Amino acid sequence: MGRQVKVSVLGSINADLVARVAELPRPGETVIGHALSRYSGGKGANQAVAAARLSAQVAFYGMTGSDAAGENLLAALNAEGIDTGKVERRAGADTGTAMILVSDAGENMIVVVAGANGHVGADYVDTVARELGAADTLLLQFETPLAALRRLLDKLPPNRPRVIVNPAPVRDISDLRLARIDVMTPNRSELAAITGLDDVESGGRCLLDRGVRSVICTCGSDGSYWIEREGTTHFPAFPVHAVDTTAAGDAFAGALAVSLSRGDSVAAAIHTANAAAALSTTRPGAQPSLPRRREVDDFLRAHAGDGLPSFVPFRGEGARSGAPTPDATGFRG
Ligand code: ADP
Repeated sequence: MGRQVKVSVLGSINADLVARVAELPRPGETVIGHALSRYSGGKGANQAVAAARLSAQVAFYGMTGSDAAGENLLAALNAEGIDTGKVERRAGADTGTAMILVSDAGENMIVVVAGANGHVGADYVDTVARELGAADTLLLQFETPLAALRRLLDKLPPNRPRVIVNPAPVRDISDLRLARIDVMTPNRSELAAITGLDDVESGGRCLLDRGVRSVICTCGSDGSYWIEREGTTHFPAFPVHAVDTTAAGDAFAGALAVSLSRGDSVAAAIHTANAAAALSTTRPGAQPSLPRRREVDDFLRAHAGDGLPSFVPFRGEGARSGAPTPDATGFRG
């Protein structure tokens, strides 16, 4: 057995409170709810769980309030084997909370209060940057202030850890040191919003031109695209019966981080991440839907031949001759 890879996650952690109601209330109206559920959430925490279930050694960095909700969330991460020793309990702040109303017709209303997540800034990064630098791969998202990411990208050594940024929700990235981002994983609408370009290939090339080292665009049931200067490789989605795509992007990011940390090729890592994400869509919820290593391995064996990539060389201005074929990705051979 190989060494256990180390994945660190800096990001958000939320308590999600979901109330079911017959009909959504109008302004000023009180309605009676008929069920209340509490879930662990936040993209940072979700991605930490995704990586831990795939047998990485995971440390989570972020902030909760000094309240019971925060302790419960951290206990849930610890139960997944995730190290939360450097999470700060922020006095006077509430743990991040999403209040979600879901009607019997399936409509929803959501209020997200960032709470302690909004305090994850440059000062906090200064206290944990050295530890973060010791991971194989660092996963970042945009649910905590960009000032923290800016400081971190400026401080990290040039090549370790590998940095994966999942740019959700969309923010202005112009102040970030994009050349220190090894992989950016926007979904299709995030890529369009960040670059102003609707076409996946043009959007991906725009990020490459701005300095991001590599771009993987996730496209829901259309799978994922790896955009390189030489061309674009499409990885079709695995054929599954999707019931709830919440956290599919988080399952993808966590699996990509673990697979790249193990030394897999980018193509093999995207294939594995597509499989983990597909599995997550077959079950309801966010964290409960995230698959374990064994399930992903079994799924890949059962679906050998599905989800194989196809490469389309870039034909535009500046295209290099001798672009690699799919075999050159080291994936099919
Ligand atoms: P996000 O959840 O961030 O919006 P996507 O919707 O692009 O991200 O989904 C992320 C990944 O999840 C996709 O690249 C794909 O691998 C997988 N996925 C999502 N929806 C489906 C689906 N209906 N069938 C199979 N795989 C899916």
